[in-house]
Amino acid sequence: MKLETIEPHGLCAGVNAAIDKAMMLRDVWCLHALVHNEMVVSGLEDRGFRFVERIEDVPDGETVVFSAHGVPPSVREYAESHGMRVVDATCPFVARAHAAARAFAERGLPVVVLGDPDHVETRGIAGEIAAASPDGVALPLPPPGGRIGVVSQTSMNADDVARQVDELRKTYEVEFASGVCRATKDRQDAVRRFCSSGGEGRRAVLVLGSRTSANARRLAEVAAECGVGAFMAGTLGELESIDFSRIDTLGVTSGASTPESFFTEALDRLRSMA
Ligand code: SF4
Repeated sequence: MKLETIEPHGLCAGVNAAIDKAMMLRDVWCLHALVHNEMVVSGLEDRGFRFVERIEDVPDGETVVFSAHGVPPSVREYAESHGMRVVDATCPFVARAHAAARAFAERGLPVVVLGDPDHVETRGIAGEIAAASPDGVALPLPPPGGRIGVVSQTSMNADDVARQVDELRKTYEVEFASGVCRATKDRQDAVRRFCSSGGEGRRAVLVLGSRTSANARRLAEVAAECGVGAFMAGTLGELESIDFSRIDTLGVTSGASTPESFFTEALDRLRSMA
């Protein structure tokens, strides 16, 4: 089996910056996984990080880290009113999506968020819209022809977002502030290039990353959309359980929260399996 490294892949600036901030700390609380990767989280647990999903579970006066995925304003207010010291590792691109959504809501526009409603980032953006809306309640969609604002979660499939915006434009006057970040788009485009580059034999894409990472899952979805087989592995054990026997060329990529050390280790293992 021939191996091809797909470029760019792996850690983005936002995740790197969040990890750098966290590595200055020990024995603190962290609201949600700092980034969606179990290896990173486990390394931080070794530094005394305690991960919780609710700000109410952080004791008053403690230091709390906000993950790269951002938080709604209500969480910031709670932390402040309970005397917590906040270390904010929100990625600037997530913060930009928050700001765009808030600006739409402040102008009185109903806002549509294109994203996974259960993803912590989308919930944060939704909280931002509610906080900036009259009585704290997001405005409903207007009648056809009305004006709306649209933002997306940063880790969406960029092509899907474009299609959904086109669909909304058939009914509404749309103001669109893209949320899909450059790192996400560049990694998806690189997978598309690999998939369309042809070549001999059966091709497939291996995405190294956690299934909890939306960014990594999207890379596998993009490969599948292109009609190329896609595998995911978040650990060496998972990698070893995959049957590559019918693959001639394997493109290897990784999600924006996957450490490069795992990418290198996985490539070495693949070479020994190939
Ligand atoms: S994938 Fe994009 S939005 Fe998410 S942390 Fe990286 S740069 Fe920020």
